[in-house]
Order: sequence, then C-alpha cells, then structure tokens
Amino acid sequence: MRIAMIGAGYVGLVSGACFSDFGHHVTCVDTDQGKIDALNNGEIPIHEPGLDALVASNVKQGRLKFVTDVASAVGAAEVVFIAVGTPSRRGDGHADLSYVYAAALEIAKAIKKFTVVVNKSTVPVGSGDEVERIIREENPDAEFAVVSNPEFLREGAAIRDFKHPDRIVIGSSDQRAKDVMAEVYRPLHLNSSPIMYTDRRTAELTKYAANSFLATKVAFINEIADLAEKVGANVQEVARGIGLDNRIGLKFLHAGPGYGGSCFPKDTLALIKTGQDYEAPLRIVETVVAVNDQRKRAMARKVAHAFGGNLRGKSIAILGVTFKPNTDDMRDAPSIPLITALQDMGAEVRVYDPVGMEQAKKVFENVTFCEGPYECARGCHAMVIVTEWEQFRALDLKEMAAIMACPVIIDLRNIYSPDEVTRNGFLYSGVGRPQAV
Ligand code: NAD
Repeated sequence: MRIAMIGAGYVGLVSGACFSDFGHHVTCVDTDQGKIDALNNGEIPIHEPGLDALVASNVKQGRLKFVTDVASAVGAAEVVFIAVGTPSRRGDGHADLSYVYAAALEIAKAIKKFTVVVNKSTVPVGSGDEVERIIREENPDAEFAVVSNPEFLREGAAIRDFKHPDRIVIGSSDQRAKDVMAEVYRPLHLNSSPIMYTDRRTAELTKYAANSFLATKVAFINEIADLAEKVGANVQEVARGIGLDNRIGLKFLHAGPGYGGSCFPKDTLALIKTGQDYEAPLRIVETVVAVNDQRKRAMARKVAHAFGGNLRGKSIAILGVTFKPNTDDMRDAPSIPLITALQDMGAEVRVYDPVGMEQAKKVFENVTFCEGPYECARGCHAMVIVTEWEQFRALDLKEMAAIMACPVIIDLRNIYSPDEVTRNGFLYSGVGRPQAV
C-alpha cells in the first residue's frame, strides 16, 4: 500500500514508521520544514524510545520518506492519514480543528484516484462529515471516502502500543474504504489485534469516551488519596484492593499530582463542549476536569505545608517536568502549574529532567536548570518528585541528605517507601499514604 501521513508529530511519525515497518510505502508530510529537514538528516525531532532505529531502518530500505509537499505524497497514495494536532481552542476549550481542515483542503487539491482519507487525529463527532464536505466542495470530481481511525497509542510506549494495540477502531460505512483499511492493518490483524468496524461518528466518540474514562479513573483515585491521608489509610493498597477486581482493573489507579499531557486535558474539555452543544451535558467529566485543575495548586500547598505554609526564601528542587516518563512532551504537564504556584508562594525553583530540559527551557521562566538530580537538590530545602523517571527511583538518599539544606522529600508519584526515606533522615510526604510531613 502507498500511504501518505499528514503530520509527522508524535502520532504521525510513529504511525508512519510502524506502517512502513509492516512493508507499506509511507511518505510523511509536515508543514514544519525544520522537522522534515531534521528527519532527512537522520535526526528524530521527538523523544520516543526505539523510534530512531525504526525510522533509520525503514528509510534505509526505501519505504519511508519525509517531505513538505502534500501534493506529491497524496497524488501517489491509496490512503491518506490526517495526524495533525487538535489542541484546545483558545478561549472556549473546543477542539481547534483548523489544522485538520487545512490538511483536508490540501488533500482535496491533490486527489487523483479513489483515495481513502483517514482521520487519525482526535476529532469531535461530526468532524469526518466536515472533512468530507471540504474535500467535495474543493474537488467535486474527487473519488474518495473519509474514515475515522482514532489512535490510542501512549507516548513513551508508542511503538509497542501501535504494533500491539488492544484494539483498532475503524469508522466507515463505505465497503471500498473498509477493504482498504483491512489491507492497511492486515499485519496487525494477523497478529490477532482485534479490529472493530463501526460507523464514523461512533469511532469519533469512542476515542473521547476512552480518554475521558481513563481521566475519570485518575481523578477518582486522587480524591480517594486525599481521603486516605485524612483517615490514615494507604491509597496504593486501596488501589490494589479495588484494581484486582477484573471489573475495575489495576491500570490508571496511581494517585499523583493530577493528569496532564497532550491528550487528557484537551480531550476531556472537548467532550464536555460536545455534550453541551448537543444538550447532553457530561457532568461526571465536568467534575473530573474541575477536580484535576484544582489539584495542581493543591500539590504546591502540599509542599508549603512542610514549611508551615510559607515558602518565601525556600529553594525547591523539582525532579521531572515532562508529563510522564520516557517522553520529552511538556504539553499541559502538571509541573507547569505546580512550579508557577511555588513561585507565586515565593519559592526559588531548580529543575532537572532527564530528557525534557530543551522543552522545559521554552516553558519556564526564572528557574535554574540543572545537569542532574544531585546538582538540582544541592542546597535546596525540599525535593519534589513530579515525574517518575526510572533514574529517580534509586537516588543515593544519604548523599541527598548531606547536600540539601533541609532534608525534605515530597514524592508526588509514591516511588519511595516512607520507611526507607525517613530512615535516611528525611521528612517525607507521598500521596495518599499515612506519613505526611
Ligand atoms: P503533534 O503536534 O506532535 O504533531 C502534529 C504535526 O502536524 C506537527 O508536526 C505539525 O507541524 C503538523 N501539521 C500541522 N498542520 C499540518 C498540515 N496542514 N500539513 C502537514 N502537517 C501539519 O501532535 P500529536 O501529539 O502527534 O497529535 C496528533 C493528533 O493525534 C491529535 O489529534 C492528538 O489528540 C492525537 N493523539 C495523540 C496522541 C499522543 O500521545 N500524542 C495519542 C493519540 C492520539
């Protein structure tokens, strides 16, 4: 199959590389000339484990190309995926579909034969209809079908997720398009990944429902964590106690600083907006968003609590700023409102992240960027673990206690055992566990 992938970001680049690895011929298109130049120079513009080797091997075998010109890629393709960003629109929280619609217009101009246009971007219900209308209006003679095929991969484990998905959702009522999609995903189907065919609107809604449900699990366990702290219970054991029930499941029950990232915040907001527009308000999701928003500043108050509520003149070391480990993605990371709140309270902030420093420098002002966790913590009054990178799990606590001005650890990911940390002379506070500072 000849595939054009419009958008070479976290989703487009990973999907394009994986499709080429299956044997398809893929051309990734991006309007960002710098990104395409980097890719053509063998550089990967994002941090995603395993992606460099996957891209290099498929480029070498002539199955993967990077261009800025939509027309050549689309003209030659049987299938065109749209994998551009759909951020929250400034002001109202609706999904900003301008990139999707701009891509649709470019695709329309370049279609030469029957082409399946696939929305892989996360788009609200009805966006597929609009993409169809835009293409039809621009190019009335074009032969095409618009399919919804939402992506469920997770950054940090994206290649594994793409190659071994829990399910593939394909929304279309056009048999020709379904046959083409079956061919595109045939290698995964042979691997027994379930493919679910449904209509386009159902596929679009499925993606938002999935992310909103996962966000709900996170917000739920975070509230249980708050209660656990008050009543002297351990949220990790509660999570295990409920999660071993197959109806609930163990995943997405880790208490922490609140969800963030490139998907949950914007997708929950967009679903709320869709619900309001259709007069079917999603009150549970509305509450999840409110609970999660309030949590970020509450985490700063948790840090302040260790100092009697006053952070003025205190130096705070932040370990981890990306929204989760194994990615350099800082979009809507919980570290952002946390650091702002700490600065509002008068703290001086020092920051270290294993791969997120470049992105962090674009986001934070008036913080000190450090080379490693020990340099970051040196002279600080508290160390706050915000992202659970593996390299933070086995810090030399004796050394830390010796170099810090004050031995306080606020562990927002519960990666340390309170006993171990307090044995090393620290005051320790995790999330939802009995020992609070
Ligand atoms: P991204 O910002 O990393 O990548 C989007 C890319 O599209 C950018 O490189 C941008 O330059 C390019 N682009 C924008 N307009 C273009 C156009 N007209 N033609 C060509 N290129 C264009 O975004 P992402 O994280 O890959 O997300 C893409 C979509 O996938 C979003 O809808 C997102 O919600 C969804 N999604 C993301 C993830 C994730 O983990 N990041 C997971 C599942 C679904």
